Amino acid sequence: MGATEEAYFTPVVPMDFTYNYRVGHYLQRYLDGFKEKKVLGAKCPECGQVVVPPRKYCGSCNKVREEFVELSQEGTLENFTVGHVTLVKGKLNEVESPYLVGMIKLDGADNLLLARVEGLPVGEAKTGMRLRAVWKDQAEGDYSDLDHFEPV
Ligand SMILES: [Zn+2]
Repeated sequence: MGATEEAYFTPVVPMDFTYNYRVGHYLQRYLDGFKEKKVLGAKCPECGQVVVPPRKYCGSCNKVREEFVELSQEGTLENFTVGHVTLVKGKLNEVESPYLVGMIKLDGADNLLLARVEGLPVGEAKTGMRLRAVWKDQAEGDYSDLDHFEPV
C-alpha cells in the first residue's frame, strides 16, 4: 500500500480576543489612587516590604498585605531598555524614533515599576539617575494616567 497525499487547506480565521479583565481589589485601589495622582503600594505586615503595584500576598512570607501606603512620585532608574517597535492589536509597528522603557524603584518601594521614560535623549539614559512621575492633566483612574517619568 503506497502513501497517499492528503489534501489540506489553510483557512484564514480572523480572531478577536476582546474581553473584560477584572482588576480586583488591590489594583482597583491602585487605580483609584491615580485619580488623585497618587501611587499606592501594599506593605507586608511580616517583612515590611512594599510592592507597587499593590499585590495581595507577599512573595517572601506569604502573608496578606493589608496596608496601602502612598509612595513618592520620585525614584531611581535601576534598568532600562530601548524600544524600536510598538505592539498594537497584535501587530508590530516600527516607531519613528526609539523610546525608553525604565525599571524604576520609587522611593519607599522594594520592587521596580515599569514605565516609559521621556524628557531626555535615549542615549543619555543612565542607571542611577533620578526620575519623577508625570501625570496626564485629567487623571481618570486608568493605567495611562501615569503617563511617563522624566529626569528630576
Ligand atoms: Zn512579607
